[in-house]
Amino acid sequence: MSHVFNFSAGPAMLPTEVMLKAQKEFLDWQGHGCSVMEMSHRSKPFIALAEKATNDLRTLLSIPKDYHVLFTHGGGRGQFSAVPMNLALLGDSADHLVTGSWSKGAVKEANNYQQANVVAQTVVENNIITLPDRSTWSFNPDAAYFHFCPNETVDGFEMDWVPDTQGVPVVADMSSTILSRKIDINQYGLIYGGAQKNIGPSGLSVVIVHESLIDKARDDTPSILRYDLIAKNDSMYNTPPTFAWYLAGLVFEWLLEQGGVDNIEAANKQKAELLYGAIDNLDLYSNNIASEYRSRMNVPFHLADPTLDGMFLQQAEQAGLKALKGHRSVGGMRASIYNAMPLAGVQALVNFMKDFEKRNG
Ligand SMILES: *Cc1c(COP(=O)(O)O)cnc(C)c1O
Repeated sequence: MSHVFNFSAGPAMLPTEVMLKAQKEFLDWQGHGCSVMEMSHRSKPFIALAEKATNDLRTLLSIPKDYHVLFTHGGGRGQFSAVPMNLALLGDSADHLVTGSWSKGAVKEANNYQQANVVAQTVVENNIITLPDRSTWSFNPDAAYFHFCPNETVDGFEMDWVPDTQGVPVVADMSSTILSRKIDINQYGLIYGGAQKNIGPSGLSVVIVHESLIDKARDDTPSILRYDLIAKNDSMYNTPPTFAWYLAGLVFEWLLEQGGVDNIEAANKQKAELLYGAIDNLDLYSNNIASEYRSRMNVPFHLADPTLDGMFLQQAEQAGLKALKGHRSVGGMRASIYNAMPLAGVQALVNFMKDFEKRNG
């Protein structure tokens, strides 16, 4: 097998140890003579697996007892409509912060169900993308909740702080930031994320929701989206994505073996510093996100001469550096360096960037 470093934004690479374990257990899971994907979700072994995965996630994120952990269908985007439907009884409008394409997508979907007010959005100042001064933000004290996206996967814009909403519940789309850094769950009413960045295969999503928010759904909310029903049925109201749940469980075990979120955060910080250091110190590359908002997970960069983009991508691919093309809305390059990306992958990318500049700068 040829070895590559896979910088895909999502579905993203999974830890090699996890993939090898899944391969080993593929046909015969724990001596049951069949794959875990061929087993009833109501069977004892699967229920034990589901409980262990849930508890491991609770341990990793120090999730307090008064929060429910739900494993649901429909990815991150599924929650763009599940959230406004489930929280409808809290009020007729919600506040949204827009920092990139995913938070913008959440506004569009939420507007189907309620008034989604944009509190503030990112601005370009001297060609640098940043947030306007917080005194200019327009919070509504009667909002049902405040929604934001701590890490914008497409734009590479990450916030490491939670805005002060004066008691309005905070809802966060953590699809590409969950488990990458330490968070204080108590600051949030609800956290959700699609799995395919830092948790496992696509399709699955995780919802962490305070118990006071699970019975606020409008009556016509589809049953499979209702947090109260999902919680009451231990995320098995209907058949859950069992194989994805199994793989998520393996990823949680792997994270615990790495020493948990503190250790993985330190590793992520080191990887990001190395890559941004190269972007800032070399002449050919640039990133235009304000330094305090630079993402540790998704690092977009542009070449000073965009006519070299095609050659950069082609030669990177030949060097075993895969999926570096930027999102079509941003252009240039994007290196996604989630938890599973080893430091060696970022070192290889940085060496390639230096080399490419020498040959073409
Ligand atoms: C990937 C992503 C989504 C969408 O996830 P899907 O599973 O494709 O619905 C939503 N929000 C963010 C921040 C993402 O990174």
